[in-house]
Amino acid sequence: MNAQRPAKVRLFYRDEYVYDALEEGLRHTFDIQRPRRVRDSLVASALATPADFLTAPALSDAQLALVHTPDYIAAIKNPGTLARYLLLDPNHRWDERLLQSLLFASGGTVAAARMALTEHSIAVNFGGGFHHAQADKAEGFCAIADVAIAVRQLCGDGQLERVLIVDLDYHHGNGNALIFAGDENVFTYSLHNTPWCFLEKEHNLDVMLPQRAGDTEYLGALRDTLAPVLERFCPDLAVYLAGADPFLEDLLGDARVSEQGMLERDRFVTGLLRERGIPMAVVMAGGYGPSSWRIYRNYFGWLLSSAASRLA
Ligand SMILES: [Zn+2]
Repeated sequence: MNAQRPAKVRLFYRDEYVYDALEEGLRHTFDIQRPRRVRDSLVASALATPADFLTAPALSDAQLALVHTPDYIAAIKNPGTLARYLLLDPNHRWDERLLQSLLFASGGTVAAARMALTEHSIAVNFGGGFHHAQADKAEGFCAIADVAIAVRQLCGDGQLERVLIVDLDYHHGNGNALIFAGDENVFTYSLHNTPWCFLEKEHNLDVMLPQRAGDTEYLGALRDTLAPVLERFCPDLAVYLAGADPFLEDLLGDARVSEQGMLERDRFVTGLLRERGIPMAVVMAGGYGPSSWRIYRNYFGWLLSSAASRLA
């Protein structure tokens, strides 16, 4: 633990994450402008400048192949097929920008994970967290397993051995759990409403929340279960999926966590990791409806504030 070391915060965003045509599809509950809204808000409140936002290249085919099968990679290159996988309007004329937006957002996850590890910092990607995607299939609006690709990339580069995935999206992080089902160097922790898969693995913890969990139940379950994980598993890096869908205003999730409770959650996770000196990459994951962006603005704004820069 190093309580005095400032936590440098890095931000990854590029306009290509936002593909406006998605708004014409069936994902009407998803605010596709969310990354831009959060970015603009942080700049407007002088918590960040435009120059603070770093850009990363889109994922390459070789990076996709770290997790996905050749047949699946070929399939998602067809815009119509990809749109179908993502449950988008099949009547819309999708083009290659649909995949590009996902490849850029996923590239940001790889870059954030690498920078967090290299600098021993907190690196935030304003996208990514597609935690239902699997080697050969898309699920739950997720087509590219960006977090798993980042982990495989950095492990393959010899930059790390042990990774903790902290998934607080309101839905089960089944994609990452399944991809790493046979890898005890990757601990998959997920706090969610209903299970999407079952795993028999030492380094996996699925915590089920009661229906309509409020602040007390939600934060209690998190506090009771995440700290013990860090007692027994010492990761070189943590990837935090800071999904906003436990928020009470979320249009898909049925949890009842207040806006303040969501920030309390994010501060708790960040503090727990930083007090142990664990570098962390943060990705956005799910969150639905017009107020979802505020959860990230609150969290990232806090990270960038002077209080957080003195964070343990
Ligand atoms: Zn979700």
